[in-house]
Amino acid sequence: MQATGDILRWDGAELIRLYDGAVRFGQDFFPDPRGTALPDEVVLPVQAYLLRRPGDAPLLIDTGSGALYGDKGGRVVRALAALGLAPDDIGDLVLTHLHGDHCGGLLSDGYAASRLHVGAVEADYWAAQDHAASARVLAENASRIRRAQDGEEIAPGVRVWGLPGHTPGQIGLVIDDRVGVVGDMLHRADIQLADPRIATKFDVDPAQAVATRLAALERIAAEGWVFCAGHARLPGQEEGATGQPFLRLQRAGTGWQAVAA
Ligand SMILES: [Zn+2]
Repeated sequence: MQATGDILRWDGAELIRLYDGAVRFGQDFFPDPRGTALPDEVVLPVQAYLLRRPGDAPLLIDTGSGALYGDKGGRVVRALAALGLAPDDIGDLVLTHLHGDHCGGLLSDGYAASRLHVGAVEADYWAAQDHAASARVLAENASRIRRAQDGEEIAPGVRVWGLPGHTPGQIGLVIDDRVGVVGDMLHRADIQLADPRIATKFDVDPAQAVATRLAALERIAAEGWVFCAGHARLPGQEEGATGQPFLRLQRAGTGWQAVAA
């Protein structure tokens, strides 16, 4: 398994980081930092991922924000084009959860031909909320949404991993029992690995998000998986298609640290 820049390669497969843009928050992004010193500004790069294998249609994990945040985001389509792909070339599209930075592209960028996988709990939760982006995603795609269940194999070697808490039905994926794609189970590798009990202000259920993170990190380490997330990377909060998104875990004190895969 080899990580080079935006691409993780193994056994003929490629997992490619697609940079969408970046969003900025104040220190209140982490409402209770539990003694950890925070930067004045919390910058979150937004990253989607593309799985390519010879002979298979590409599988896209999240779409970025599309037109929702103006020129702060919306670069996933350009990143696909740089790979010679259009949105309609995607075979399976997986939304880790229905926040705008993960599903917004679906509202502006096409993806007409895709099978669309959304966690079953996630779809039910947002159907009952007054939230514009997720409501539109659900309403405009009702006929092609496949309700993903924890442990289900949605494509060869691609298994759903339930990661509730940040949103009630967030899902990640485990690919070939070697790579975890974890959505917003983790936002900042530097801050939330050293202390996984630090939640964010966007966690719908912070206590559940913390419990999920603690368990997921144990599993990643025990299985020896490489993992990547929607925002986390090394060194941290630089903008651009830079930094290292593909990580391995090492224990550090009472928490963890990440190293580049
Ligand atoms: Zn996010």
